[in-house]
Amino acid sequence: LLLQAEEAMRSAKGMGHSNYQAYVVMPEESQRQRLALEEKLRKAERNGELRVYYQPQIDGRTEDIVGMEALIRWENPELGMISPGFFIPLAEQTGLIVDLGLWVLRAACADARRWQARFGLPLRVSVNLSALQLRQGDLVERIGAVLAETGLDPRSLDLEVTESISLKAIPNLLATLQALREIGCRTSIDDFGTGQSSLDYIKRFPADSIKIDQAFVRNIGVDPDDEAIVRATIDMAHNLGRTLVAEGVEVERHVEFLRAHGCDVLQGYLFCRPVPAATFEAMLIERERL
Ligand code: C2E
Ligand code: CA
Ligand code: CA
Ligand code: CA
Repeated sequence: LLLQAEEAMRSAKGMGHSNYQAYVVMPEESQRQRLALEEKLRKAERNGELRVYYQPQIDGRTEDIVGMEALIRWENPELGMISPGFFIPLAEQTGLIVDLGLWVLRAACADARRWQARFGLPLRVSVNLSALQLRQGDLVERIGAVLAETGLDPRSLDLEVTESISLKAIPNLLATLQALREIGCRTSIDDFGTGQSSLDYIKRFPADSIKIDQAFVRNIGVDPDDEAIVRATIDMAHNLGRTLVAEGVEVERHVEFLRAHGCDVLQGYLFCRPVPAATFEAMLIERERL
């Protein structure tokens, strides 16, 4: 079922829909399994099956760690580890994403605050926001409450919004992002270059950073056209006063190219895969000893 659904998701994505909008069409028997899965997901938080994994973000100049992206994981005793690429769309369709998103935000802010205090580092944590969360009228207040509750400085919280989110679906998106910046948070456009944004949209999008999609980064050293797009995006970001983050950095030649062209922040398997909080903390301890 999982493979089937992921396949459907991929082809829907390929047809130009974002994974947030894709409705998975499945045979009727799978429909029942889907409902069973939804029921399990509904209980996941209460049953302690949710985890936040962290992937380090690296300064392009100094190569020191500047922060981490929080990525949700669901570990079910029967189903094993379920990829967010699969259950996030399900959570979107069922509305469960609102609670899951808030759970991730709380955990991420609490972990970041604890690590900042323990290691004396100005670590920044990036949290993904989904379309449904952004449609909630009280999102800014909720985020403000989590910051107050965890004691994290708003400037240490970066909220990522995928570029493929449609303004039609969320009419007040730009105002919401602006309001988040006004309470001191940072904002990022995620998966940049894969949606259908116009340059005018980019200009008006209140984001501190632009995260160029892995699809372009992957082809550095392979496709000169993708290299040109990466270079142009770095320049555009800088000329608009935004920070440029590259994700999906997998090999040394990606780093060489990105550094040579002034990319600010690097994230990818080459440095580290997303890891459990305890592993991330162990890495910070290791770094301190060096
Ligand atoms: P994303 O926000 O674009 O996150 C980056 C994804 O790329 C992560 O997949 C990460 O593990 C993967 N990645 C990082 N470095 C590399 C690399 O070098 N090579 C390759 N091939 N992949 C790399 P992950 O963790 O499976 O998450 C998939 C997507 O699920 C995320 O894409 C995001 O859209 C969504 N997601 C994850 N956690 C959350 C969450 O807490 N809330 C919401 N709303 N969405 C989430
Ligand atoms: Ca992201
Ligand atoms: Ca991304
Ligand atoms: Ca992505």
